[in-house]
Amino acid sequence: MGEKSTIVISGHQSISYFSDVRNLCWFLEPEFANSVVRLHKLVGNAITEDHHIVVGTGSTQLFQAVLYALSPPNASEPMNVVSAAPFYSSYPLLTDYLKSALYKWAGDAYEFSKDGPYIELVTSPNNPDGFTREPVVRRTKGLLVHDLAYYWPQYTPISFPADHDIMLFTVSKSTGHAGIRLGWALVKDREIAKKMINFIELNTIGVSRDSQLRAAKILQAVSESYDHVDNSKETEPFFEYGYNIMAKRWKQLRAAVNKSKLFSLPDFPPGTCTFTGRTFESQPAFAWLKCEGEIEDCESFLRRHKIWTRGGKYFGVSSKYVRISTLSRDETFDLFTERLSAMVLESP
Ligand code: PMP
Repeated sequence: MGEKSTIVISGHQSISYFSDVRNLCWFLEPEFANSVVRLHKLVGNAITEDHHIVVGTGSTQLFQAVLYALSPPNASEPMNVVSAAPFYSSYPLLTDYLKSALYKWAGDAYEFSKDGPYIELVTSPNNPDGFTREPVVRRTKGLLVHDLAYYWPQYTPISFPADHDIMLFTVSKSTGHAGIRLGWALVKDREIAKKMINFIELNTIGVSRDSQLRAAKILQAVSESYDHVDNSKETEPFFEYGYNIMAKRWKQLRAAVNKSKLFSLPDFPPGTCTFTGRTFESQPAFAWLKCEGEIEDCESFLRRHKIWTRGGKYFGVSSKYVRISTLSRDETFDLFTERLSAMVLESP
């Protein structure tokens, strides 16, 4: 995007804690809010009307704000927090690291059988396996949080505009700007949004205004890349660029896996993307690789072959699985697929 996503922030800008005192979320920069609404409208992946936007220092902070907001302050027992395995490995850690009296990790949603209130995290597309997900517990006292970090058209076909009560998004996955540390929640209920805002007030007295201004510029540049679509490389629409890279990488990865015969990858059903009109199979930000045959500890096996992964046990499943990022630099990804395709079973 070149200069189109560059901003200059002067020394006199962003001094105050406050961004917009008229907004319920008083630390939300109006420019960032506008860029979020515009992008969702363009892509059609989420409804922003009738939702409050709450900005956070990554969706990691918003996740903790949500747990705080949804857990009753005076309950006799901490609220149970579940997600279907394999689940994002940070959920149990983030839920339990402060040993809160408000909430506690209760594991795999498929195994959850307790009565009473609970929070279910629905990650769709899912980290680590890339599948589209729906809630699995489905009981009346459940509160749902939809983590839609990967619901963008470079990874998966957009099938409908999501309109859930609480949805989490992040620039880490929409554009790849993980270092900006910015996420946003779309929250229907005003009281829940208010409690989340209260958490962020207590936790960090708001969210970096500089980061919001940068993210606003970047999201605007993404939207503007669709204003004058022609065929030149210079003005390639942002998600086309991302889609093409992901398509190339998944092709390369599947070829390596087929060649080696030691591993398997999930197969995704084709879907038609309402944004691009294209029919394609998901090409997730992570490869959920399974070691076939006798290899029980896939992480150690791959590590011996100089491939660093995260083993299945972190995600609540068997160590025959590992998660591998498909968002590394080109050189790293090429080296990875080269090493994978050259691998053969060692003699015992
Ligand atoms: N949710 C999911 C499902 C993720 O995969 C990640 C990042 N790995 C996050 C949330 C955290 O994102 P952020 O960088 O915005 O804190």
